[in-house]
Amino acid sequence: MLIGVIAIQGNVAEHVYALECAFAERGVHGEIVLIKHEGLVSGCDAIVLPGGESTTLARLMWEEGIAVEIKDAVGSGVPVLGTCAGLVLLAKRGDGEVARVKQRLLGIMDVVVKRNAFGRQYDSFEMSIDILGVGDGFPAVFIRAPAIVQWGDGVDVLARIGDYVVAAQQGSVLALAFHPEMVPDTRVHQYFIDMI
Ligand code: GLN
Repeated sequence: MLIGVIAIQGNVAEHVYALECAFAERGVHGEIVLIKHEGLVSGCDAIVLPGGESTTLARLMWEEGIAVEIKDAVGSGVPVLGTCAGLVLLAKRGDGEVARVKQRLLGIMDVVVKRNAFGRQYDSFEMSIDILGVGDGFPAVFIRAPAIVQWGDGVDVLARIGDYVVAAQQGSVLALAFHPEMVPDTRVHQYFIDMI
């Protein structure tokens, strides 16, 4: 299988490494292509949207034509994993902060996202959480993390912290508020490979 990692900005190398570990653990032959420009998404069996800075990512993805390609791919059932800023991009709607900076989201997932829901960079934290279908006690790293605050009927909630949803799935779209690529535990990436 060929997985495209959007490589404009953010935790690209970390996702590549986690995917390679997960390929080995699942006994799957997989390859990865880094995507910075249009023309590559349609050849991929799945797409990873890393965390980083969603305003930068959104602007460049629309400018480069990648945003439209991802929307088309998801429409034809190609699995997508979005982490942290990647979750922000996948959402149909954002909070006031998204409107204020006129952020253009991909609008793929039927959720409302709140950026920086847990506070500023200084408020970053790690917490052990149980993720439905993935496993219990996952070491989840939250860095200026967003959260899902509303969701439609087609969205399965996989993990929450209080009122905030921090992991959710809608069909072939998997979105996480935290960074599974920053820990040695590859269960999330293995789960994604199983989805593909
Ligand atoms: N707060 C960032 C944003 O909204 C996301 C941070 C991250 O991906 N670690 O773009």
